[in-house]
Order: sequence, then structure tokens, then C-alpha cells
Amino acid sequence: MCLASCMVTPLKYRMSEFDLIQRYFTRATPGAVLGVGDDAALLRISSGMELAVSTDMLVSGTHFFPDADPFMLGHKALAVNLSDMAAMGAQPRWAMLALSLPDADEAWLQKFSEGFFALADQHGVELVGGDTTRGPLNLCITIMGEVPQGIALRRSGAQMGDDIWVSGSLGDAALALAHLQGDVQLTVEDFAACAPSLHRPVPRIALGLALRGVAHSAIDVSDGLLDDLGHILECSNAGAEIQLDALPVSGVLRTCSGKNQIMSFPRRRENEARGRSFEERPSSLINALDSRLRGNDDFLKEKLLQCCVLAGGDDYELCFTAPVAQRAVIEKISTQLDLPLTRIGTITSGQGCTVRAADGSVMTMEEQGYDHFR
Ligand code: ADP
Ligand code: MG
Repeated sequence: MCLASCMVTPLKYRMSEFDLIQRYFTRATPGAVLGVGDDAALLRISSGMELAVSTDMLVSGTHFFPDADPFMLGHKALAVNLSDMAAMGAQPRWAMLALSLPDADEAWLQKFSEGFFALADQHGVELVGGDTTRGPLNLCITIMGEVPQGIALRRSGAQMGDDIWVSGSLGDAALALAHLQGDVQLTVEDFAACAPSLHRPVPRIALGLALRGVAHSAIDVSDGLLDDLGHILECSNAGAEIQLDALPVSGVLRTCSGKNQIMSFPRRRENEARGRSFEERPSSLINALDSRLRGNDDFLKEKLLQCCVLAGGDDYELCFTAPVAQRAVIEKISTQLDLPLTRIGTITSGQGCTVRAADGSVMTMEEQGYDHFR
């Protein structure tokens, strides 16, 4: 579409839009009838398959820091889309990339496309088209995949008595983000250990494929476990009970929130020094932590851990439900994929999600850290 470039300023790219697309985003696409270069791509779906399609947009300043490393952005923009394919049990095949760029920074484009294609190649995904325009940095990817007719993993399939499972571990991405936002201060080593979860999430494609016909429902954990499990519950018209102690907390989160570890809460102290209350910072994680216990860092650490695991987003693990009869199959999948799969609770006939603490008591919404990341 060239209306904007005809009527307003032409693209001030050092190279033309055509050259840019040609150089950085045109690759052989043997899995497509026609890829980049025409008015539309042509795709042929394999017989007996349904097309799974999903779009995710990453906006500078909202979903990533404006100076974010371009290789990592290329990876992450595709990873969050691939994660949606994993959650449907779909085999990803093609992607479309819509880019809004402030300028044609060739070094940036080179790194971005390397990050994108490195992950695309790992999963056999072909870039078959997109759009490139001038504007604030904004990345939008549409991913397309295939799943045999009738067996996609939907949010609506959970049944009473199903086990609830989570892949990998939860909380590292939220912890890394809390550090970058200045809410907590991690050691260099601890930050280095949890940052990859935020910057380089691993889409659980192989798991999604293995769960076809095994799981009743699935979702990827992008907004936090309680939020995302909540979507399964709403769509399935079911309730859930999960055990706080059963949740797979990453080693980094566990050790760095451990009692003897140095982890400070800089902004909290800064705000206290200025006599400001946490309530003035509604978006902050620490704001959510119980202000009655200021000065009690051990308590804050425990709360931080709970917040990150229950409500922290960006992990891109899969949360799925499956009948009890599938436990042995799921454990075998875990071994085959070398990926921990943890049973965290049960689907009930009730409504909403009940979280039980170690002592068996039901945690209140406030205790769960719910809404803390908003
Ligand atoms: P049109 O004017 O018909 O929309 P464009 O000039 O926008 O065509 O795009 C030309 C070709 O390049 C199309 O095949 C389009 O899908 C592809 N394309 C544009 N931008 C990108 C991009 N960022 N990544 C991959 N393909 C792209
Ligand atoms: Mg176009």
C-alpha cells in the first residue's frame, strides 16, 4: 500500500523499501507455492489439516525497551507467535512480518533478521510476506500452522477431574523484568541467569505436538499463570484448585529470593526516603507487596517469589489439562523432550481458581499477588 508514501513524505530510507525487503526478508520458501514478492503469498495446506492462524504485535515501549537488542527482538517477536502455535498443538509453517520502522538502520535490520531467521529455521517456518512502513518501531507477526482436523488443543476442553500441568518453570521472566524496572536489584549473576527467560523465550512447539490427543486443553503462559489458567476455566466453564507448593519455581528465582541472598529493593527504599507511599506507583510490582511489612526483606522476598510465579508474565510455558489416565504418557513425554512437566492441581466443578498454601489454607486474591502486574 503506497498511499502514505505518496501523500506524505516518501520513505527516507537510504535504500528503497524494495531493497530492504529483498536484502533482509527474502529467503527461499520451498514450503510455499509463492513467497515474498507478489501481491500475496500462495500457500497450500496439507490434506486433512486445519490452518491455525494467530497474530501478535510487539510495540516499542510497551512490550520491549526502545533500545532492545535487535537480534533478541527478532527472536522474541517470532517466539511469542510460535508459542501460540504450541498452545494449539499446531505445527508452525509460515509467517508474515509487518514492520513499522523509524528509519532503515541497516545494522539493526541485519541483527533483527538474524534473530528472526535463526528461530524460524529451528522450526522450519518460512517467511512468506509482510509489510514495511515508516513509523514508530512496531513489530507484528502473523503465524500460520497446521493441525490435523478436529484435534487442536483448545482453551475450552478442560474437564472435571483433569490434572493441571505446567511445563518448565515459572517466574524468571517476571523477575528479570522487575530488575530492569528497578523494583528489585539482583546480582549480576542472578540477572544473567534469569534474563534469557525474558529476552529469549523458548516456544514449546515439540510439547504442543506431543500433547495432541493427550491433553484436553492448553494455553501458553504469556500474562501469568493465574490469568492464563483463568482463560481455560472461563472457556471450559470449570474451576480449579492449585497447590502453591507444587508450582515449578526456577532455580534462579528460588535461590535469589532465598533468605541468605543479597537482593535489595532500591526503589522501595528510595521512595521511603522521600516519604512516598507505594500507592503512588500503581504499576510497580513492589507496590503490590504488603506495605504493612516494610523493612521485612525476607517477607518481601517470599511475596516476590509468589508474585513472579503466580502472576508474572512472559514465561511462554504451556499450561494444559489432561485426564488422570494420561499421567504415565505425560511423564514419558517429559523424559523424551527433556522438559520438566509438573502437576500443579486439578480441574473442579467450581468457579475460578483456588490457590492452596502449604498449610492447606486458601490464599486470598491479595495474597496470590493477583493484579499485581497491572
Ligand atoms: P504491496 O504494495 O502490494 O502491499 P509491498 O511493496 O508492501 O506490496 O510488498 C512487496 C512484497 O514484499 C509482498 O510480497 C510483501 O508480502 C513482502 N513484504 C513486505 N514487507 C515485508 C517484510 N517486512 N517481511 C517479509 N515480506 C515483506
Ligand atoms: Mg504492502
